[in-house]
Amino acid sequence: SGSPGPYGRRCLDRPGEEGRIAKILANDLERALSRDDQLYLVYQPQINAIHDQVHGVEALLRWNHPVFGFIPPPLVIALAEDTAQIARLGHFILVEACTQRAAWKEQVGNDLVMSVNVTPRQILDPHFDRRVEAILTEAGLASKLLEVEITEATLLEPDAATLASLGQLRRIGVRVAIDDFGMGHTSLRYLREFPVDTVKIDRSLTQGGRRGVNDHIVRTIVALSQTMGFMTVVEGVEEAGQLARFLSLGCATFQGYLFSRPVSGEDCLRFIRNNARP
Ligand code: C2E
Ligand code: CA
Ligand code: CA
Ligand code: CA
Repeated sequence: SGSPGPYGRRCLDRPGEEGRIAKILANDLERALSRDDQLYLVYQPQINAIHDQVHGVEALLRWNHPVFGFIPPPLVIALAEDTAQIARLGHFILVEACTQRAAWKEQVGNDLVMSVNVTPRQILDPHFDRRVEAILTEAGLASKLLEVEITEATLLEPDAATLASLGQLRRIGVRVAIDDFGMGHTSLRYLREFPVDTVKIDRSLTQGGRRGVNDHIVRTIVALSQTMGFMTVVEGVEEAGQLARFLSLGCATFQGYLFSRPVSGEDCLRFIRNNARP
């Protein structure tokens, strides 16, 4: 069950060596989930370049496998979705991120948002909203400080359960972001039909060629976002030239190596404090 992951067909169904390695990894993931040293989160700041402030941070999963080293996060997530381990892995990620944000309470601005990626299958869990609420309560974190990032693909054929789940999250005050936005042809339709808080402009628009066309798409996204009251975050900003270009297109908030790579919680806190305005 489940839709194919980013690696095409379900990892575990792949023939030969690839399928064999996928099965080994799925097994090892089970073990990694019961320990706490191989799986952890890193954090990447999102910067409002106009006010020179850190708007929020995105939590990103890392799995340092004892034999294979770092496993690409999309592969880890795809494996977990294929094996139903996503429930445990997703829970772990949300707990870690919320606990980290709560621990920063005294040290960062009281509106700094923690963004966490969630998968279609996680959202389809009919109790997802209640699970998130329980995690927030346990961590002692206000719901408005958590944002869940869903990819545009999650909303391609949104079923009633997905929409209900996301609607319920927003009602309790959790923010919703559309990730990797601008890739699908029918993107703009979703922006009108599905109310979100944040639109994350995909790296391919930041870094891609065909600048004239891309600039036009970005201008349209920004204009629509302003009308609808969504904030925009530009992903994958690596060069000062890209920053200047997107500032001139009306964007304010940026995420990318130009500012910081994803780093440990400790290093991220240092970054936030160094960048906060006195
Ligand atoms: P994403 O959600 O689009 O996350 C942003 C990815 O872009 C991250 O890769 C980040 O390290 C990378 N990145 C950030 N700034 C730059 C830049 O300036 N240049 C370039 N080239 N890349 C940049 P990462 O950490 O390898 O994650 C890849 C994808 O794996 C994520 O894409 C997301 O789809 C998935 N993922 C990662 N962590 C999680 C998680 O905790 N849960 C879920 N469900 N998915 C996750
Ligand atoms: Ca994301
Ligand atoms: Ca993204
Ligand atoms: Ca992505």
